[in-house]
Amino acid sequence: MQRLTVLGSTGSIGKSTLDVVARHPDKYQILALTAQQQDELLFAQCQQFKPRFAVLLEEAACERLSQRIAAAGLEVEVLCGTAALERVATLPEVDAVMAAIVGAAGMPPTLAAARAGKKILLANKETLVLAGHLFMEAIHASGSALLPIDSEHNAIFQSLPRGYAGDMRASGVSKILLTASGGPFRNTPLEQLQHVTPEQACAHPNWSMGRKISVDSASMMNKGLEVIEAHWLFNAPADAIQVVVHPQSVIHSMVQYVDGSVLAQLGNPDMRTPIAYALAYPERIESGVAPLDLFQIAKFDFVAPDFARFPCLTLAYQALRAGGTTPALMNAANEIAVAAFLERQIAFLDIPRLIEAVLGKVARAEVQTLQDLLDADAAARCAAQEWITR
Ligand code: NAD
Ligand code: MG
Repeated sequence: MQRLTVLGSTGSIGKSTLDVVARHPDKYQILALTAQQQDELLFAQCQQFKPRFAVLLEEAACERLSQRIAAAGLEVEVLCGTAALERVATLPEVDAVMAAIVGAAGMPPTLAAARAGKKILLANKETLVLAGHLFMEAIHASGSALLPIDSEHNAIFQSLPRGYAGDMRASGVSKILLTASGGPFRNTPLEQLQHVTPEQACAHPNWSMGRKISVDSASMMNKGLEVIEAHWLFNAPADAIQVVVHPQSVIHSMVQYVDGSVLAQLGNPDMRTPIAYALAYPERIESGVAPLDLFQIAKFDFVAPDFARFPCLTLAYQALRAGGTTPALMNAANEIAVAAFLERQIAFLDIPRLIEAVLGKVARAEVQTLQDLLDADAAARCAAQEWITR
């Protein structure tokens, strides 16, 4: 029996995780569920999975959840606040932590879980963008297993040699081919991108996801964040990570070897596949995902990304090469920019403009400690807010 904490259980990845877990009650037990403020959904999840702990960030939501839990006679302890996230991510009884909070807020509890030696199922890519070096150091020091949930990285993990230890050359790997759907604006001309709405940006052609990652997919910042994620996960230099636009989203990514072989992982675009893979690794379990019908898909297309229409992709490669606090600055500026776009305070094409302005204003620094990253994150958010209200 594997005992789990699900950080961000009310989100898109959190719900898919619980869907897979519910199919295997003999294998997985939920010890803790967490959410920011959705107490109604969290209560329903508590009724179904009977965890020992439920965590919410907002006081009023905690209060409502506590009352309902008491009224229903459930034995769930309700905890409130960010310190509780770290507590449930590091409980001695927990074997694995699904890191499915969105944004930089997911980093501290995920890092704490890695330091505590938990098996990490990593959906929160911002952890690696913000604190890749510290996080990977913690994984190696504690001996934690790290399984990528992001579909591309899960595909790369599956296509690398079993036991790959971070040495591309020794493994005969020449390149990582990171596929991208191209998002809802893959063919939208630049002049129209200025006027696109949050609703259009969130209408992804192949994947149903949370709003932040949906906007990131539309700007292709998601792919940029994934380039940085791949760098840390697989110890791959920026030059060895190539983005390939593949609109069908069936090939989830590929690994190219020195002998000319290219290995890929395919499947329907449904996050329950990588989630089930990571939960059961090295075994395989059923996920509820429909089998792939190649005759229905009929063909695969591949095109090079358009760096001119999607400047966020360039910004991410630049941030990876710059290193230090630059990726953290970029990530924070992007989070503020996406939130402002969703609130209709800025236009879609202002997202890369705002990020560039923040990177021009807040100086890059070297990273020694977690505090250096948290300071950079805060400074970038502050500069981004100034840019918006300028
Ligand atoms: P979502 O918005 O649907 O859910 C986010 C979850 O985090 C919710 O449970 C929410 O309550 C919680 N949360 C939000 N802000 C929080 C905060 N400040 N503190 C604590 N909890 C907070 O997001 P999602 O689409 O499920 O994405 C989650 C993560 O997984 C993201 O990092 C995303 O990039 C990554 N990811 C998602 C998908 C996908 O298909 N949705 C695919 C690959 C990677
Ligand atoms: Mg992805």
